[in-house]
Order: sequence, then C-alpha cells, then structure tokens
Amino acid sequence: MEPKKFSPETLMMSHGYKPSLSEGAIKCPIFQTSTFVFKTAEEGKAFFEIAYGLRDQGPSEELGLIYSRLNNPDLEILENRLCLWDKADDCTVFESGMSAISTVMLEFLRPGDLLLFSSPVYGGTDHFIRHIIPSFGIKILGFPAGRPKEEIQNILENSGMAENLAMVYMETPANPTNALIDIAGCKEIAEKYSTIGRKVPVVVDNTYMGPLWSHPLDHGADLVVYSATKYIGGHSDLIAGACLGPRELMKRVRTLRTFLGNMASPYTGWLLMRSLETLKIRMEAQAKGAEKVANFLVKHPRVEKVYYLGFLTPENDPWQYSILKKQYSSNGAMIAFDIKGGEKEAFEFLNKLKLFKLAVSLGSTESLAQHPFTMTHSDMSPEDKAMFGVSEKLVRLSIGIENPDDLIWAIGEALGN
Ligand SMILES: *Cc1c(COP(=O)(O)O)cnc(C)c1O
Repeated sequence: MEPKKFSPETLMMSHGYKPSLSEGAIKCPIFQTSTFVFKTAEEGKAFFEIAYGLRDQGPSEELGLIYSRLNNPDLEILENRLCLWDKADDCTVFESGMSAISTVMLEFLRPGDLLLFSSPVYGGTDHFIRHIIPSFGIKILGFPAGRPKEEIQNILENSGMAENLAMVYMETPANPTNALIDIAGCKEIAEKYSTIGRKVPVVVDNTYMGPLWSHPLDHGADLVVYSATKYIGGHSDLIAGACLGPRELMKRVRTLRTFLGNMASPYTGWLLMRSLETLKIRMEAQAKGAEKVANFLVKHPRVEKVYYLGFLTPENDPWQYSILKKQYSSNGAMIAFDIKGGEKEAFEFLNKLKLFKLAVSLGSTESLAQHPFTMTHSDMSPEDKAMFGVSEKLVRLSIGIENPDDLIWAIGEALGN
C-alpha cells in the first residue's frame, strides 16, 4: 500500500524532525552552535567530500553536519518543510528576502548578459537591478506588469539585446496595484532564447501570494524566491528569505550562499518553523478579512478606485481574469485604493486610522497601512509612477487576522464614515 500523502499543513508540525535525536523534545530545539563534532576523522573527510562536490553523493548518503554556514538542523528542517508547499526539490533559506534575490541574480547573470524584469518590483529589488547589477556589465530591460506575452516579447525584440537574454525575473501580483503577469508566457519567451548549454531561468518573487495561494514552479518558473519576512514569518518579528527549485539549479544557489555566508541564523530558522505551523490558517483568515474590507471600500463615497484581485471579472478585464484563475487559488490579502483627493486626503486618512499600524511591510498578523507614493515607491521615477498608477491618492493596506468588522469600523471612522 502506498503511504498516505499528508497535506503540507498537516506536516508542518513534524516533517523532517526526529525527536529521538534531540532527547525526545517534541519541538526541534534551537541548534545555537557554529560547528559540529565529527565521530571520526574518516567521517569528517566524507562530509567534506560531499559538501564541496569532490565526489558524488551515495544513494543513501546524507550530507553530514559540518559548520552552520553550510548547514544547521534548524535550517535544514525548515527548508524541508518549505519544499512541501511549492513541491520543490530543494530550498535554501537566507537572512533576508533581498539576500535570496541578490544571490540568485549574482549566480545566474554574467557580464554581457541581459536581465529582463517586470516593473514595478519591490523597492529593494528595483534598486539592486537598476543601480548594482549594471555595475557588473549586465544589461537590464524592464517590462510592465499586467500586459500579455506578445507585448513583453515585442519589448525584448525591439531592444536589440534579445540574444543576450539570461534571466526573466518577475514579481506577480505587482506591488501595489496587483497587476498580474503570465508566468507560462514568460517561460515561452525564456525557452525561445535558451540554448542547449545555456538555459534562461524564469525567476518569480512569490512573496505576495505564496507559499499557499500560488505555486509558480507549476506554471513554468525555474526558481521561486520569497521574502520570508512577510507571510511565511507572518508576525513582523524577523527578516528572512528563501529560494526554491529543482536540484541542479539549487545546488548553484546553495553553493553561492555558502560562500557569501548569507544564510539565516538558527534562531530565525526556529522562529520560521514556529510560524509555518499556523501559515495556512493565518493566510486564510487574512484573505477572508481582505474580501470584507475590499467590499466595504468599494462602496464608500470617499473611495475612487479599489485595487483588489477579487474585483477582476471576465467582463472588466478578461486577460487578467484568466491569469488570476490559472495562477492563484485566492484573491490574497493585499488591497490598494485611491482616496478622493491627493496626498493631503491620503495623509489625513492614515493619521486618523486606528487599529491599523502605519508601517511598510505586509503579510503579518496585524493590519498595516502606508502611502506608496511617498514611502515604499518613493524612489520610483515620476514616469513609472504615472504608468503604474502609483499616485498621491493611493493607499496600500495589508490585512491581518483581526476581526474584519473592527477593521471596517476603523476605516469607516478614518474616512469620516
Ligand atoms: C519585502 C519584500 C522583499 C524584500 O525582502 P526582505 O526580507 O525585506 O529583504 C522582496 N520582495 C517582495 C515582494 C517584498 O515584499
């Protein structure tokens, strides 16, 4: 009989941890240690041969514990658990989302290469792409989120740099307006420019909808990256990142992590394991709350427009609606809206708003509100702001797990009812 395959949420309390190796402790302890003791010199030699790829790993041979920059039980068990959500071969966790993203870019891009990336992306990613990547002689080319494959293909071909394409990087849904990108369409573009010796990887930042509501590897992504600071951590008490994908690519990511030394700490690993136990119930409660809040906002006379995935329909945007249904199993918990007026009205609202915290970040148990134009997206060029709808009247909300009726009360009060 096939062993029963349990759901990821069931396995978050146990997968990969053997209590007998830790004095019977029901929970994985924090392995706050820099180095690990070998039983014999021969064992130490064998561990290093595998870690440094000096010989192939035997079929039943596991990489032994050596030193916490290479591996640590808290990180390994966490990585095994994260793999379950995205059905990935392998995962590496990082000390931040930015370190996951920058490590992937540094590993797969070389001087003369072209990076094709969606716009807008997270501010830190945008800065890394525009100001740091070009200093390595790597060319960059942006494409707007929310547009079909043919348009992206045209932008690439008109650039005259298509032959140098070396990575397609995207963030979908785009922040803050929830514009969607077709991952499978981007994969077709990447394949068109891949050669036998040189595959163009498609990398998806899945922070906004993962790891519960979207699994980019199923749609053609080669690698998935996360800011685990957001939903995965979920309590606004840590900074971390992750990258997942097939074994052969992850081997390269893991090796660069070893030598950059930007792995997460054992304590962060332990906190993230604790967070993963409640990931699904948190995210589901957040999405449910967001739906109620969005439905309230859309009817409010002081609100001009609401950006929420649940408002896409086959009539108002057939293309984005089809991507929504294909790639996502939820409308998420992120909402943006245009308040009638401009910065003055948006600031009055934010300053009056109770219960929500006025802070950047997202995906946590507490609800957050911020003003993208002057905060998260302040670095963006005026042209891009205009193109992507990041205006002075835009407010972004991340919905937490509070009672949605209380959140609605707070919004109503700050809008002057
Ligand atoms: C926050 C965020 C990042 C950066 O992650 P850090 O953990 O802050 O380094 C990257 N991408 C997205 C979509 C984010 O929201």
